[in-house]
This record gives sequence, C-alpha cells and structure tokens, in this order.
Amino acid sequence: MGYKVLITPRSFEKIKDKVEKIFKEENIEVVINPYGRVLSEEEMGELIEDMDGVIVGVDPITSTVLEKANRLKVISKYGVGVDNIDLHGAKKKNIVVTNTPGANSNAVAELTVGLIINVLRKINISDRRTREGNWDRFVGRELTGKTLGVIGTGSIGRRVIKLLKGFDLKVLCYDKYPDYSWALSEGVSYVSLAELLKNSDVISIHIPLTEETYHLISEKELRMMKKEVVIINTSRGGIIDENALYKFLKDGEIFGAGLDVFEKEPPKNSPLLELDNVVVTSHIGAHTEESILNMAQIAVENLILVLKGKEPLYRVC
Ligand code: NAD
Repeated sequence: MGYKVLITPRSFEKIKDKVEKIFKEENIEVVINPYGRVLSEEEMGELIEDMDGVIVGVDPITSTVLEKANRLKVISKYGVGVDNIDLHGAKKKNIVVTNTPGANSNAVAELTVGLIINVLRKINISDRRTREGNWDRFVGRELTGKTLGVIGTGSIGRRVIKLLKGFDLKVLCYDKYPDYSWALSEGVSYVSLAELLKNSDVISIHIPLTEETYHLISEKELRMMKKEVVIINTSRGGIIDENALYKFLKDGEIFGAGLDVFEKEPPKNSPLLELDNVVVTSHIGAHTEESILNMAQIAVENLILVLKGKEPLYRVC
C-alpha cells in the first residue's frame, strides 16, 4: 500500500522537481499545502487526518491537531526548532519526530552577520532615505574589536562565531550545556548569562524556544545591558519580551535590534515596526537556495526512513 504525505513549507515548492522522483519511486502520494502560507491549527487538523507523514515548517502541530491524526507515523520537521510540535503528544501516539540539524546553520548565521552590520551602520534607513531623494550622512558604529555575546553555542551560534572571526572580536558565550573543549579550541570563553549581558556590545540569540527560554530576555536582563548594545534575534520571537524591548529601544536605552523572528508572525501592528533603530526581516533565516535544498533532502530522507520502519538520520523523539 502506498503512503500519503503532507508537505507544508512554501519554499519546498522551489525544489519539488528534485524530490518528486524519490516520492514516486517510494510510492508516496504527496499533498502540497494548498493555502500557500503557514497553516492554522484548524487547517492543519483537517489536512492531517488521512496522512501517514508530514513534512512541516512552522505550522502548528498541537495536541488538537494530533487528535485528528489517525494514521500519522512521522512528523519530519523541515528545520531545527520543534517548538511548534507537541512532542509529548507525538510520543504518546508513537509518532516519530525528526528534524534537520545543521542544514540551515550557515544560512541563519550569514543573516545574523548581515543584521549586525545593518543595525550598526543603519543601512536600512540610509537605503530608504536615499530612495526618497535625501542624501543624509549617517554616523554608524564599527564592529571590529568589540565584544560579541552569543547565547546558545549550538550549530548556528558556532557558525556565527566562525564567520565573525575577521572582526577581531572578544567572544563571550552562554549555554546551558557548555562545551569547554570547543571553547578552548576557538579561543572563546563561557560566562554566566548576567556577565554576558553586562559586557557585550552585540548580543546574538541562538537557543531554542522552550518553557525555560520563554522571555529569557525581559526588562531585568535589558537593564543589565550596555546602552550601546545591539541585540540580534534570529532564533524565536518568544525568547525576548517584545514589550520590554520596544520600551528600551524607544527610550534609547539600547542602541538597536535586528529581528528575524517575532512572538506573533507576521508582526502586524507591532510597535517595533515604527522604530528606526530596529531592522526586521520576515523569518528568512533559513531561506537560501542552498539551505532549502539541504533541509529538503534531509527531511525527505528522515520521512522515508521512518515510513520504511528504519531509524531516521535525526530523531527528536
Ligand atoms: P542547536 O540545537 O544546534 O543549538 C541550540 C543551543 O542552545 C545548544 O547548544 C543548547 O545547549 C542551547 N540551549 C538549549 N536550551 C538552553 C537554555 N535553556 N539556556 C541556554 N542554552 C540552551 O540549534 P541551532 O541549529 O543552533 O538553532 C538554534 C535555534 O535557532 C533553533 O532552536 C531555532 O529556534 C532557531 N532557528 C531559526 C531559524 C530562522 O529561520 N530564523 C532557522 C533555524 C533555526
């Protein structure tokens, strides 16, 4: 009997031709997200009912959705962060959850570097003002020689550090599970979160969103930071308390922020969008041609291995 699989990420469309043959060979019928956007809980629930597998982006796979999943054997996350998936619920129903660690790390790390320079040099405002016919000479700040604080030294955090080597930065790291031998080999140090917040000129966040990391950066933490700090979040919106961030940015108590992710996406009506010292992107961290292909290949392989009763390349639970 053939299998039926739902694919939700829009970017998958771009590499559909490359993986179509594999699905055919494996006798897998594919249903592509018919809405062309992130699905709601209700839409996901309706579509998932008769699926054997799903390749999912950031669409919600909550307990309500899982209740409807009568045949589901595998949730293959197209990416790393699994905060949109009810892992306990999946485990209870013996549904295997997989992801694609490392596949998008370079893409996210490069965007992070771009956001840092953009905030420091106000590229976004200069671009807008120049198009409007103005010729303002913005005074920005340089990155070279400054202190970079990296929260989360997993795949992306490490890549950011590697890419920024040429800027002769002092690097402070914080991670729940520090890897001291890696730190030694890279010439960086682990410090407490408070120490990182107090001493960094640029702070970049690369941890998953969990109950523990929700609003990890709130008013208390923002107050510890230097006035000229730049905060970059390419991880998940919920890790920063956006109301507190807005207040600090608006009052000039911190220099600027680069945000690829928001508590609610898209961030319609967010006051953050009114501020010139914030550079925003639309959760495009992993969206490069190279990373899309990497993620798709690994997500498809994970999915097929589980459907065949084998161990996937990367199992979350
Ligand atoms: P990873 O698993 O390789 O690294 C995560 C790091 O966070 C690990 O070193 C881990 O020990 C640490 N960590 C976990 N919980 C922590 C806690 N409570 N306190 C401190 N450290 C903690 O993941 P990665 O590939 O580096 O990705 C990091 C995050 O980036 C993902 O979870 C995802 O949310 C986000 N992401 C965003 C995009 C995007 O498009 N913007 C794309 C990919 C990933």
